[in-house]
Amino acid sequence: MKSSSEKIDLKNLSPGELKEFLGNFGKERYRSTQILRWLYQKGIHSFDEMTNLSKRFRQELSQVSFISTLHPVHMEQARDGTKKFLFQLGDGNRIESVLIPDKARLTLCLSTQVGCAFGCQFCLTGKIGWKRDLTVSEIVNQILAVRKMLPEKTSLSNIVLMGMGEPLANYENVTKAIELMVYPDAFKFSSRRVTLSTVGLLPELEQLAKEKISFRLAISLNASDEETRSQLMPINCRYPLRKVLEICRNFPLRPRTRITFEYVMVEGMNDSPQDAKKLIKILKGIPSKVNLIPLNEAPEIPFKRPSEEKIKGFQEILMEGGLTAIVRTSKGREISAACGQLQGKYSE
Ligand code: SAH
Ligand code: SF4
Repeated sequence: MKSSSEKIDLKNLSPGELKEFLGNFGKERYRSTQILRWLYQKGIHSFDEMTNLSKRFRQELSQVSFISTLHPVHMEQARDGTKKFLFQLGDGNRIESVLIPDKARLTLCLSTQVGCAFGCQFCLTGKIGWKRDLTVSEIVNQILAVRKMLPEKTSLSNIVLMGMGEPLANYENVTKAIELMVYPDAFKFSSRRVTLSTVGLLPELEQLAKEKISFRLAISLNASDEETRSQLMPINCRYPLRKVLEICRNFPLRPRTRITFEYVMVEGMNDSPQDAKKLIKILKGIPSKVNLIPLNEAPEIPFKRPSEEKIKGFQEILMEGGLTAIVRTSKGREISAACGQLQGKYSE
């Protein structure tokens, strides 16, 4: 029998890797379908619950592998219905996921790293720095843990990778986790309902363009010229706006798919009518949709949110310029569950 540290966490394996694992093990490959369904559709926690597998096989599996779980250590709910879940990981680090009800949708926002290395000036997650990447199982276990707490007959409709961390900086684990999210025998989400948000890491975006992507892409643009973007997002010095847009322009999107551009609105930095006009110009030729996110303020952040009128005016200029633009007021602000407010702690 293997010691627990040598055992494989089954939820770290992509569907292909699970098949291979079972193959090496002398088991028919179709068993992987059964196991995926137990893990991700039924959400079971132990091998004993896999009742369509022989007792002997279950025992063999438990000698070389295990089923990991995550349990929230704290939950907060805002008046608008948004819920924030705090999870403590095996090594004591903490991450958060946010459940956002909105009309017909129920969206879960997942974390992909503990902290974040990119230090965008307006983001609290950036202030804690990067601690480590999440494993595949830590990413998908957020979905399983939150799903367990939903009322009967309620199900998640959308997944967004917009919580703590920069998903493309944890490329391998994040893409494997997405594979599980959309795989028919695993979570079975439509690829149109899984969105990954990134600051635009060029090598990883190039890699994604080569691979078949099975999710929606959102780019955190936040400015319409190099200088402003570099002031707000230090990564722009390494991967400039111009190059990010060039990749977006050539990105092999599936028919009727658009790239979402997120634009956090910061008073006096990127909210003028000129900024709006520049934005129309730089997005020309890219199938796009703009999400204007009014800044969520915090004492540690040296910026203010523009007035409602200013935001509305900005949106109108974009729409007159032919862009689809919506103002996405973040939910859950009073419990620090809104965009850019996740820090893995809670008010006691
Ligand atoms: N690291 C990824 C995903 C997590 S951040 C990214 O940056 O895209 C998710 C979104 O929250 C990004 O679009 C980011 O620009 C936005 N955001 C960060 N801080 C914010 C704040 N204080 N107010 C409003 N939106 C913020
Ligand atoms: Fe990191 Fe995204 Fe926050 Fe920037 S906005 S610091 S990339 S989490």
